[in-house]
Amino acid sequence: MGSTSRQLHVFFSPFMAPGHMIPMLDMAKLFTTRGVKATIIMPVVQQITTPLNVPIVTKTIERTKTCGNSVIKIDIQTIEFPAIEACLPKACVEVFVNLLRFIIKYHCGSPNYHSSQMVDLVTGSEGESGADQLDTMLWQPLEQLLQNHDHPHCIVADMVFPWTIDATAKFGIPVLVFNSTSVFSASAAVSIGQYTPQMEVSSDSEPFVIPNFSGEINIFSAKEVGESELRRYGVILNSFYELEPTYANHYTKVCGRKAWYIGPVSLCNKDAEDKGHRGKESSIDIKHECMNWLNTKHINSVVYICFGSLSNFRDSQLMEIAMGLEASGQQFIWVGLIIRGWAPQVLILDHQAVGGFVTHCGWNSTLEGVTAGLPMVTWPLFSEQFFNEKLVTEVLKIGVPVGAQQYKEAIEKAVRHLMEGEEAKEMRSRAKELGEMARRAIEEGGSSYSHLNALIEELKALHS
Ligand code: UDP
Repeated sequence: MGSTSRQLHVFFSPFMAPGHMIPMLDMAKLFTTRGVKATIIMPVVQQITTPLNVPIVTKTIERTKTCGNSVIKIDIQTIEFPAIEACLPKACVEVFVNLLRFIIKYHCGSPNYHSSQMVDLVTGSEGESGADQLDTMLWQPLEQLLQNHDHPHCIVADMVFPWTIDATAKFGIPVLVFNSTSVFSASAAVSIGQYTPQMEVSSDSEPFVIPNFSGEINIFSAKEVGESELRRYGVILNSFYELEPTYANHYTKVCGRKAWYIGPVSLCNKDAEDKGHRGKESSIDIKHECMNWLNTKHINSVVYICFGSLSNFRDSQLMEIAMGLEASGQQFIWVGLIIRGWAPQVLILDHQAVGGFVTHCGWNSTLEGVTAGLPMVTWPLFSEQFFNEKLVTEVLKIGVPVGAQQYKEAIEKAVRHLMEGEEAKEMRSRAKELGEMARRAIEEGGSSYSHLNALIEELKALHS
């Protein structure tokens, strides 16, 4: 490989959904601050004239010239997936490739899913030949890239890209899986996968206790958070040790995972421009519209509401939520109704006028809320968001669950609980403390800083 004296070079292979891509881009920036060369591998689909995600990533990288004191330089390499005319019309192919991953992540349930499940689900076709074809389709382009490129020392691949391991196997390149959820959720998923307690309950509405797990955590039927095969070198998580130490220990000692906690990675965005346009161009003018309004508000007086990048409420539900917010008597910023399009979330959360966050418990949003020192109203919508809710409300005790189907009343009650009274004060003070811990973790000498250093040293040693 001839890589001994080379600068450490890491490929990052993100899944192109905001909740996966944004933290991986931040992570790549973090690596570069330690002298690592980073290359982002962007999948595009043949015959799609404008691969939509490429400009988003290019812009983010172009804009991010610095991270802390370091100058950032990140390369991009595209790999082309062939169009799958046999399965779907051409226009749907890009959607299809992304869709596959959502399907396997949220609906297959097994950590050892195989592409045949994807083929069957999407095309209705059956049998090994279809599965093999799809496997090959996914990993061959990466294998080809590696064939023609100086080999990186390591690949950080999204958890929904298990085929990366096949593509890299013959080159002996270690694969680190980026698990884009909390350690709590990742280890709960392992326990549920091992002990299948969901089989013991009579229906999805009957809760069960997560077995062999710290705390009496009751959960309703939840799909596992799939993890790719154990052949990977280790797992990187966007969390910090002090946030969930019990579960971090559980994950390594009981689940037997080799893991590094290097977050919150969002903290590498230092200035307003980077925070404001993280992920996509913000749909509002970050300098004036939103910030000017917030600047006129008292400290901790505004509630920020956002249900992530994927949620889809019906109009009648939106109306009920709006009525609940109105009835709570609080001032709020709501992504979806008040801000249409993409909000500068991290910038808003960090504003001192914001005092509470209504979240769907996507892990990035949850951790961004923690980092901003904010108590939360939790409203999980699917998959591992239900685990993250438990972490926020029952373990960290900085959240109030909405926990009901009558949106209006439930949201009014939860938001009042979040913003008014003694308990709200206690939650806010705990949240502030966690926010300070998050910032310390990423500073020189902090736990996440040290984990990243240890990982880099280990990767260097592998090649010496
Ligand atoms: N986000 C944002 N503006 C928006 C919506 C989302 O900046 O209007 C960001 C948010 O800060 C987070 C990511 O998109 O980093 C969403 O990831 P998360 O895991 O919270 O939820 P998902 O979208 O995957 O359900």
